[in-house]
Amino acid sequence: MLNNIRIVLVDTSHPGNIGAAARAMKNMCLSQMHLVTPHHYPSEEATSRASGADDLLANAIVHNSLDEALTGCRLVVGTSARPRTISWPVLSPRNAATKLTDEAALGEVALVFGREKSGLSNSELDRCNFLVHIPTNEAYSSLNLGAAVQVLSYEIYLASMLELNSPSEIPRDLATAEMMQGFHEHLTQALDDVGFTDPRQSERLLRRLRSLFQRARPDKDEINILRGILSAMQGGKSMRR
Ligand code: SAH
Repeated sequence: MLNNIRIVLVDTSHPGNIGAAARAMKNMCLSQMHLVTPHHYPSEEATSRASGADDLLANAIVHNSLDEALTGCRLVVGTSARPRTISWPVLSPRNAATKLTDEAALGEVALVFGREKSGLSNSELDRCNFLVHIPTNEAYSSLNLGAAVQVLSYEIYLASMLELNSPSEIPRDLATAEMMQGFHEHLTQALDDVGFTDPRQSERLLRRLRSLFQRARPDKDEINILRGILSAMQGGKSMRR
């Protein structure tokens, strides 16, 4: 089940942090590392900081985009060093770990970490169903990337031991990250086509709608129904990919 949990590092600047993350993951029995546009990789510094977890580095998959790294995932949890203002639901590390392990029993899931300097962008957070924030000193809330991977990997490992005894999720065939992204693009287009929004002026509205559907966790049939409605609104025009 832990093999279904992807740790995704976005746009990492320092190769040492990639090595530290690999070590933290291996300590906690996680193995699936995905790197989105790392600045320096492969790198000797990453290998030396991984100290014995270089098998994880060797198997890490490098992607050109976050969407590519999330392909096939039924649940995406993003990390945030700050409590956010917009309506992304924020989970505690313990609750996030329970959700991730519950759903990893049913399919692929991802936990996404941001850049050292600026974290995850809003459009990257848009891909997430939930956010997780590690509680900290409010005046100094940003952990080193490798340390954040360590804390959350530990919580996932603990949750996985409890999960073996009592899975709490009822299996549902949830829409994958790329189906959700296709739906959001279709929704944006359809609302524009019927004159409800102008994409240049409705960023906030679209972000709220996105957050509503990301939170609702629709299954594949529900997404197909919603896309059928959108196509009908557009006069039968289909954007299905
Ligand atoms: N200045 C950035 C901090 C980035 S820290 C910002 O304000 O967003 C680099 C990464 O480490 C973050 O993107 C996140 O993935 C992780 N991280 C650091 N502190 C964290 C915290 N308190 N909770 C959750 N993730 C954290």
